[in-house]
Formats: sequence, C-alpha cells, structure tokens
Amino acid sequence: MALEDMRQPIESGCPDGFQYTHPVMMKNYGQWKWHDHPRPGVLRHVAYSGDTIWTVKAGTQRILDVFTLRKLCDIGDQYADGYVRFTLRSNIEYMVTDEAKVEPLIKALEDAGFIVGGTANSVSMISHTQGWLHCDIPGTDASGVVKAMMDELIDEFRNCNMPNRVHLTTSCCQINCGGQGDIAINVQHTKPPKINHDLVSNVCERPSVVARCPVAAIRPAMVNGKPSLEVDEKKCICCGACYPPCPPMQINDAEHTKLAIWVGGNHSNARGKPTFQKLVAAGIPNNPPRWPEATAIVKRILNAYKEGAKDWERINDWIERIGWPRFFEVTGLPFTKYHIDNWRGARNSLNASTHIRF
Ligand code: SF4
Ligand code: SF4
Repeated sequence: MALEDMRQPIESGCPDGFQYTHPVMMKNYGQWKWHDHPRPGVLRHVAYSGDTIWTVKAGTQRILDVFTLRKLCDIGDQYADGYVRFTLRSNIEYMVTDEAKVEPLIKALEDAGFIVGGTANSVSMISHTQGWLHCDIPGTDASGVVKAMMDELIDEFRNCNMPNRVHLTTSCCQINCGGQGDIAINVQHTKPPKINHDLVSNVCERPSVVARCPVAAIRPAMVNGKPSLEVDEKKCICCGACYPPCPPMQINDAEHTKLAIWVGGNHSNARGKPTFQKLVAAGIPNNPPRWPEATAIVKRILNAYKEGAKDWERINDWIERIGWPRFFEVTGLPFTKYHIDNWRGARNSLNASTHIRF
C-alpha cells in the first residue's frame, strides 16, 4: 500500500485557544494598561486603546456533564458576548465589553446554581485529579473530596477574605498527578501491597513492575509453581507505583489508605522561588462521602493563615516568616516523628529542587 493511501493518525491535541478568544482581547493582546477588581468574581481590564473588558468568573465542578456545559454556554450566549474560557482551576470565565451586562450575567449564573467568585485573595476552586472517571489507580474519590470541602468553603470562594490567593489541590493516589498547592490533600498508603499471586502471571509484565519500584523492593519469585513477584516489606515505602502496571499488587485498602495534608507548595516564581509543599498532617481517615476529618484540618489551617498572615503573604511566605514550630502551635496540629523525612535515598534518586530539568 502506498504511504498516501494509509490511514493517517488524527492529531487531536489541544486546539489553538486564540480562535475562541474574545475579539477585544485579541485586538489588545499584550497591550493592557491596567486592571482592577471591582468586586469578588469580576475583573476589569483597560487597554492602551481605551477598550475595556469585564471578566466574570464562576466555579464549576471540573468534570462537567454535557447538560451543565450546555447550560453554561447558553448563559454565555444570552448574557455575555458568546465567549468563555476555563481557568487552570476549572473556573469558567465570561467576557463582556458592556458594564451593564455584568450584574445580569452574575444573576443568571447564580440563579442557575453556579457560584461567582474565585478572584484575587479568595480560596479558588480546588484543582483535582481525574479520579475514577479517567484513571485506573485512585485510592479515593478526588471529585468527592472537592465537593465536600468546597461546600464548606463556599464563602471563602465568593468573598476575598484571605491574606492572598489560596490554591487547594487534591490527588487520589500517591504517584500524584496533581497535588501541589498552598494546601494539598493527597492519598497516603500506609501498608505495602497485597499480592494476588494467581493473577500476576496472567496480568503483569514482571520486569516492568520490578523496574517501577523506586527502592528496589520487588523481586521476581515463583509462588505455587507459578511466576509471580514478592515485596521486601522492610524496604517498601508504600508509594503505590507498582499498582498501575500490575493491578494484582493491590495497595488500595479501606482501612490503611489514608489522606495526608501538605502545605506551602507554590509552582510560581513570579515574586519568589518556587517551593515544595511539606507534610503537616498524616493518617487522616479516607472517609466518604463528606471527609469531615480532612475538611476540619483544612479549615483550621485556613483560619490560622487568615488570622496570622500579613496582607499578600501566600501560605508558604507566612510559614517561612513565622517558622514551622509556630505553624504547628497556631494550627494545633501535632508534630510527630513521621514529619521528619529521613530517607537518605532521596538524595540520589529524587528531584531535590523545584527547578525543571530537561
Ligand atoms: S492522582 Fe493518581 S489516581 Fe488520581 S488521577 Fe492522577 S494518577 Fe490517577
Ligand atoms: S508500593 Fe512502591 S515501594 Fe512498595 S513495592 Fe510497590 S513500588 Fe515498591
């Protein structure tokens, strides 16, 4: 078969966002003179050309069904200028060039059950990982944790009462495709995987599972006459990395899979260096459907930050100024030996800075 007759791959990556951009934003691209924040959930940008555009932001649940998407788009067609965009934290933004449209647009969104806010020094929508909808290894329901927490933090989303912006994240496994933020709620496995030896030889490529383990705790083994694997439990750090390539190495467990809370992560290097988040609470029950224990700790940290931080300090800046001992005092969280990372192997095998290496 000639090359041109062969079926070609369909390149369906992320489309160019400029084709969906509001024309006034395109016209003034890179030419903005100033912007302000007239009220929570609304931004105003003024260009050197004199053009003005208002942006109205509303929270969404991230994983959107088609009916909700249609509703959001209909609101955009009817009350805004027919353009929307989604932010990194799954908020939806509408742009309007007529100030008179701002209040009716907010009313339409709120009447339809959406929450307007998430701008400036508020708690933005929690960014969460794919969860069970798209991924095969979650140890908790990321969307459920987000729903339960945002129900309790709704006033912090629609008001600007925090010293600075707060980004919350969740991650539903310990490999962690998402959880780095001012406050992150991440799964924590506390026991090595249990191996279903009957299935390993049918399901798993043993060399790739052995290669996955960051601490070389997995060895090939023969069990009941069948090729299988074994785990050196003294070495295992319960990371869960062996579970994706080999589901019979079951690590999710109703009792021993917990949640942990980390604080002070910041990707940005706009005003200071990026920072790694640090563990502050571990062994929290993974307790659906409302996860009350994890939510109570997040609220405790937010309250201490709200009371103690200076204006415009992010959580990591605040902790750096007051010090970790004081952080544990003001939040009332216990400091235990498990907070000390004494795993020497990390020096050789893990990234030791937040700088990206290519
Ligand atoms: S955090 Fe882990 S389990 Fe959750 S979606 Fe990402 S890779 Fe999958
Ligand atoms: S959980 Fe992690 S450390 Fe333990 S055996 Fe699996 S890959 Fe290795």
